Amino acid sequence: MIYDHDADLSLLDGKTVAILGYGSQGHAHALNLKDSGVDVVVGLREGSTSVECARSEGLAVESVAEAASLGDVVMVLLPDEKQAEVWGAEIRDGIAPGNLLMFAHGFSIHYDLVDPGPEVDIGLVAPKGPGHLVRRQFVEGNGVPGLAAVHQDATGHARELVLAYARGIGCTRAGVIETSFREETETDLFGEQAVLCGGVTELVRAGYETLVEAGYDPRLAYFECLHELKLIVDLIYEKGITGMRYSVSNTAEYGDVTRGDRVISEPTRQAMRDILADIQSGDFAREWVAENQAGQENFQRLREVGKNHQVEREGRELRSMMDWIDTEF
Ligand code: NAD
Ligand code: MG
Repeated sequence: MIYDHDADLSLLDGKTVAILGYGSQGHAHALNLKDSGVDVVVGLREGSTSVECARSEGLAVESVAEAASLGDVVMVLLPDEKQAEVWGAEIRDGIAPGNLLMFAHGFSIHYDLVDPGPEVDIGLVAPKGPGHLVRRQFVEGNGVPGLAAVHQDATGHARELVLAYARGIGCTRAGVIETSFREETETDLFGEQAVLCGGVTELVRAGYETLVEAGYDPRLAYFECLHELKLIVDLIYEKGITGMRYSVSNTAEYGDVTRGDRVISEPTRQAMRDILADIQSGDFAREWVAENQAGQENFQRLREVGKNHQVEREGRELRSMMDWIDTEF
């Protein structure tokens, strides 16, 4: 593990760091680096609603092309599916030999969607948490842990500079693991598909539908299969699975240890292996690139279907009565 004392922030002295994009990760990286004393310029599209927002926080804002050219270190925090197009049109010409090109997810480099040539350093700092937490934890004096990697070391100094960046955004306060672009990309995609997003969503909906189909009150099914999930996950996060099992009743724990592997059984484990194989072969990446080239038609349709599921309609109504929860969706 890499901590603050293993990373030298002063390596960024006299350098300009360009942050391209001001979304979830972009705003957090830009503001944390600025608070760490680093010279930051944010690159945004003309007419972007974030321009005013970034300026009001005291950040310098330029076009994407201008920021890419000003930056000695250039961090690409655009949506993964836009990076290849913006790279060709606005970033590539601004990257000089010896610059450090950085990413927060290895997708574009690992799947060869962006090719920076042999003369630049290519690095990665991927905070293991959403951008708003990267900012909030930093302001509170803490940090979100992260992954760091070097894909190409043209200058011989890429690793030290990548670690300095990780320190500048607060990741080395919590701990940074050194890895490769391949490992970061494949594990990140697997986690979100099989467990964190895809797996959990389908588990919740399957449980909810089972109760509703059996005639139980849909509101009760919502509380049981969705609302309470957070309370259980918080316990697992704080105390591990053993600690969670300690907190629930013995009846719940007995049901857990005797029934869980009937739900997640061999066919599900095989599906997980197949999903991982699609990620490793590049099939998933090719599918996602093709989906974007086709205008995201299928993706937008599936997004709408998900939004209109009964558990979502039920949930919107129930959450609207809980005024301590932000009810935007
Ligand atoms: P985001 O969608 O929140 O923000 C993207 C930003 O890029 C926005 O400011 C948007 O206006 C801008 N943008 C979009 N298209 C553009 C274009 N054509 N030209 C110029 N600007 C454009 O994205 P994000 O979630 O912060 O993701 C950025 C990177 O960070 C991705 O590589 C992602 O995988 C990675 N990452 C994200 C998270 C997360 O929690 N969201 C966590 C770890 C890593
Ligand atoms: Mg992730």
